[in-house]
Amino acid sequence: MRSMPRLTLNNGVHIERLGFGLYKVPPKDAEVLVTTALGEGYRRFDTAAMYGNELGVGRGVGGAISDAMEANLSTGGSGESVHSLAREDIFVTTKVWNDDHGYDATLRAFDTSMANLGLDYVDLYLIHWPCAGRGLFVETYKAMETLYREGKVRAIGVSNFQPGHLEELMQKAEVVPAVNQIELHPWLQQTRLRTLHEQLNIRTEAWSPLGRGQVLEDPAIVALAEKYSRTPAQVVLRWHLQLGNLVIPKASSAGRIKENFEVFDFELEDTDMDGIAGLERHHRTGSHPDNVN
Ligand code: NDP
Repeated sequence: MRSMPRLTLNNGVHIERLGFGLYKVPPKDAEVLVTTALGEGYRRFDTAAMYGNELGVGRGVGGAISDAMEANLSTGGSGESVHSLAREDIFVTTKVWNDDHGYDATLRAFDTSMANLGLDYVDLYLIHWPCAGRGLFVETYKAMETLYREGKVRAIGVSNFQPGHLEELMQKAEVVPAVNQIELHPWLQQTRLRTLHEQLNIRTEAWSPLGRGQVLEDPAIVALAEKYSRTPAQVVLRWHLQLGNLVIPKASSAGRIKENFEVFDFELEDTDMDGIAGLERHHRTGSHPDNVN
């Protein structure tokens, strides 16, 4: 049963507002972390060909679904909780890597990702970086449009696209990207891109939503955590949700996985949202898209 608040993408597909990120999760740990997260109520997972852990993610997802099938068989269909999950209860995102840009290469990369994941379809397929220097992101996207039309992906989108990249894509694409996944946290608020996304009907997804843990030490965030009797991570995730961002925090322990999910039962006051808006530092924890090719 789904209880996680969701948003609707521009093609009508529903997406959980909070998912689990798997960058830098070693392949051997991915399956157990996905299983742990499913047990806590997460239903959305963000991986990428480059993370090297699609196999483990697929095993975690596949395990929950086959557990469900076994439970249903043994109970005559009355399996419950994580044991009653179907494929459509789980949302999986993966991404095409930079070396696989281009029409044919993207189709081949997608087949490899699907084989690793062991799934019949992917919920959201993204271009990982625009790699403007390669000059191939439009062709790459055309391949994704083909996959979308063939029903192999439920939605397609981009990641790390700057305004100029989006404008070029919008001139040549037939399907408006559903999502642009970008670095976004209180020290890098991406106001210009968020406004552009709203105008274009593209959802903003925040990667490194916790600023890789760095922003959790900001004294203003620590003070808000004390005020609300929450943790700094919960305050930052709540800020994202109230802005309308999709979020995909990564965590390595069951305790943090649970903590990061407990953000739907409180609300930051407007003055505190304004206070966090004032923390902008234009500080990146990852690469600038212009420097990735
Ligand atoms: P996050 O902002 O999610 O931060 C993760 C870090 O914060 C880890 O060091 C983690 O520690 C720590 N952390 C998590 N929860 C807590 C908590 N409750 N209290 C204290 N510390 C905590 O960074 P990521 O870079 O991982 O970004 C999230 C996801 O975004 C990635 O996993 C990936 O899916 C996606 N991403 C996409 C990119 C793209 O180019 N499209 C680029 C980068 C990320 P620990 O692990 O030790 O628990």
